[in-house]
Amino acid sequence: MKTLLLYPLFPKSFWSFEKTLELVGRKAQLPPLGLITVAAILPQEWELKLVDRNIEDVTEAQWEWAELVILSGMIVQKEDLLAQVQEAKRRGKKVAVGGPYATALYKEVEAVGVDYLILDEGEITIPMFVEALEKGEQTGMFRSGGEKPDVTTTPIPRFDLLDFSAYEQMSVQFSRGCPFQCEFCDIIVLYGRKSRTKTPQQMIAELEKLYELGWRRSIFMVDDNFIGNKRNVKLLLKELAPWIADKGDPFSFNTEASVDLANDQELMDLMTECNFGAVFLGIETPDTDSLSVTQKYQNTRDPLSDSVNKIISSGLRVIAGFIIGFDGEKTGAGDRIVSFVEKTTIPLAFFSMLQALPDTALTHRLIKEGRLRSESANINQTTLMNFVPTRPLEEIASEYINGFWSLYDPEKFLDRTYRHYRILGEAPCHNKPKDKTKKRAKKPLDWMMVRALFIILWRQGILRNTRWKFWGYLFDMYRYNRGGIASYLGVCAQIEHFIEYRQIVKDEIEAQVFQYLQQEALLAQNQQEAKVNIEAMNNVA
Ligand code: SF4
Repeated sequence: MKTLLLYPLFPKSFWSFEKTLELVGRKAQLPPLGLITVAAILPQEWELKLVDRNIEDVTEAQWEWAELVILSGMIVQKEDLLAQVQEAKRRGKKVAVGGPYATALYKEVEAVGVDYLILDEGEITIPMFVEALEKGEQTGMFRSGGEKPDVTTTPIPRFDLLDFSAYEQMSVQFSRGCPFQCEFCDIIVLYGRKSRTKTPQQMIAELEKLYELGWRRSIFMVDDNFIGNKRNVKLLLKELAPWIADKGDPFSFNTEASVDLANDQELMDLMTECNFGAVFLGIETPDTDSLSVTQKYQNTRDPLSDSVNKIISSGLRVIAGFIIGFDGEKTGAGDRIVSFVEKTTIPLAFFSMLQALPDTALTHRLIKEGRLRSESANINQTTLMNFVPTRPLEEIASEYINGFWSLYDPEKFLDRTYRHYRILGEAPCHNKPKDKTKKRAKKPLDWMMVRALFIILWRQGILRNTRWKFWGYLFDMYRYNRGGIASYLGVCAQIEHFIEYRQIVKDEIEAQVFQYLQQEALLAQNQQEAKVNIEAMNNVA
């Protein structure tokens, strides 16, 4: 079967980093790990071609060649996913769709004429789809019926289908699911509350494959909560450490974890030993009441700023997510988030308005309370909340815009990044005496990185108003955290993206608030007119 695996476009978002990618000559942040895993589960005698629309378009020859088109994507990619399904159908192809978006909102995909829906986790539903095709079935929907696959049987993703030069980072997955119960989270809906992990041998086989294929850069461990099963993650890290050392540190890692990471020094030490550089934490808000409302109890147990400091002081760079718009939230939540980010020195703070995602506990509650405005939640930072909040929407939107603007003020961003790297530089793992006998993986000189370095120095050290501060901080970095300079400059460069993106957030949210207020005014006017008419009719009667 000639099968085209098609990955839809991502819109511009907090994570798209176009400007930074342009600097280093890459086209996308991460490869489509889901689709290359699908490729590994499909019958290996099938002929497979992968097109990631974030790096290239589908050619006429590829469209003509394909007998079957398989697409997968997240909610944020839905616009392009639906357009590509329609394009494939227009060309008379058989089309199958799976992945998180189709699983959450399959009716939207069904409505554009897809032939097969491969929902839930592919380890269970792809074999069902293949069997149906072999029986000659022309359509079908395949579901796991609540069963979750054992990921220890998941094959190594088909990394060989990727163009490595196009991606800034590679991705691998160790676990699925998370033991916590945050009300807004769709991960636990899709993957369950039991963290299912691969075996250490399985993960090392995946990394070995990447090594063999020549990958020598950063790897994002895409788990939604890498430490969901602490016992198993430690087993992995204990086996990974000697493998990494034996190969001469060919990769560095980044991941996502819950804040309770701060309570496990052994785990943090193992992570830094295995070259984990950055960790994304879902902090959401410093307001304890809001954390309780949203059932994120794990963030209420210890003072959050102490937890963040512990993680940074252990040598892990912190990236964190923040949300505004929780029920019962008091005025000034945006400012409190900004103060928290400043205090804890977090350079990259992913800030968004709360959205009710399909099938989450939050969505079910809002439906019951009659407060859901739209079921088709969009999870990027440029859309208003899809439900009626408990304080005025325009107040939340205004705090959100001001907060975003302040977080990505170039001077504040530079100050925070510098302070963050000074703390990192003092971490014991960064101050160990160098082991001169240690093997180092050969990494060819990357001319794109050299070019990027000169552009950063030119833009930040000459053109920007913050130039004197930039040189002062760089000099101090040289004195106090020399080993961290490359990573520090990489983070500094991200302001290029945020200066543009905060303007997009401001313009789009302001336009939607204006539209929303007009609709509300019209609604109030209609209600008033109806009331006057009823009163007039009653008077006549
Ligand atoms: S900790 Fe993160 S992944 Fe786990 S339930 Fe909460 S939001 Fe979801």
